[in-house]
Amino acid sequence: MDINFCQVCGEKLILKQIGDEGMIPFCETCQKPYFKSPAPCVLVVVLNEYNEVVLLKQEYVSNTYRGLIAGYITEGENAEDTVIREVKEETGLNVKTYKYIASYHRSQNNLLMLGYLAHVQKAEFVKSCEVDQINWFSINDALLNLREGSISKQLFETVMSQYLDRT
Ligand SMILES: [Zn+2]
Repeated sequence: MDINFCQVCGEKLILKQIGDEGMIPFCETCQKPYFKSPAPCVLVVVLNEYNEVVLLKQEYVSNTYRGLIAGYITEGENAEDTVIREVKEETGLNVKTYKYIASYHRSQNNLLMLGYLAHVQKAEFVKSCEVDQINWFSINDALLNLREGSISKQLFETVMSQYLDRT
């Protein structure tokens, strides 16, 4: 989304050369540049002690494929706070340990997705109303239920290649 007016004072923005960043929308009154920074969010592979992974079905996202736990980082949180909060909100489970894996840029909606692996103890789900279905999947079934080329699948494959023993 392009911003044309200052969100502080309402002044029309001009384009101004900012350092080596190129021409950036700028408010001359507030002396404030408006960078098109991506919105940060987390994407989490949630794994239990039996090497099963949580996948969600959210019908507003896809009827066919499932996805990993994801959510926006909100004001005052670091990425790890968001991982713990989103896993709790969407599954009811408590994260025991987590590990940062890799980041991905999603160009469709300018998201910076920070990928994590989180371990939980297997338990009954307490699902959020945003989620239509939530289930445990074996590693192989999870692979079949993640869309080819999706960031969820890329993260999952990275986790598998680095941290999971598939034998
Ligand atoms: Zn302004």
